[in-house]
Amino acid sequence: MFGNPHDEGANADDPRHQHTAQGQQQWQEAEAHAQTPIFQGARLSCLASILGLLNIQAKHKASNTMLSDIFQYCHSLLLPKENVLPRSWKEAKKILSSIGMEYQIVHACVNDCMLFHGNSAHLTECSICEEARYDPHMLTGNYPGNQ
Ligand SMILES: [Zn+2]
Repeated sequence: MFGNPHDEGANADDPRHQHTAQGQQQWQEAEAHAQTPIFQGARLSCLASILGLLNIQAKHKASNTMLSDIFQYCHSLLLPKENVLPRSWKEAKKILSSIGMEYQIVHACVNDCMLFHGNSAHLTECSICEEARYDPHMLTGNYPGNQ
């Protein structure tokens, strides 16, 4: 039933036929990023390093600008010269895009009731506990120490 995917007359329902040339190229690039250490002797790959930094960004709700600065700092100053860490958030995003991984930040209620996603993406407060989506101090920039 599952013939060689390169057979001209193979069954069109064979799911492997959905693997286009572009899909195969993305897979090979993803494998390369997942297997290439961020520098020789490093414990993390390029892909793991990017995903790790993105997770920290999401956890702390840090801006893309801040993440870019961290990528730049690590790439240029912290890591050995031959490292393959992207130089910026944009460059990291481009790598994820090239391997078919899109990155999207979804806000959650501070009380973990819901996600501001899909039909709730436009809401400015939680539909369950009514907590504000954004910290008003964050929006105005009027927080202690920022005067
Ligand atoms: Zn809530």
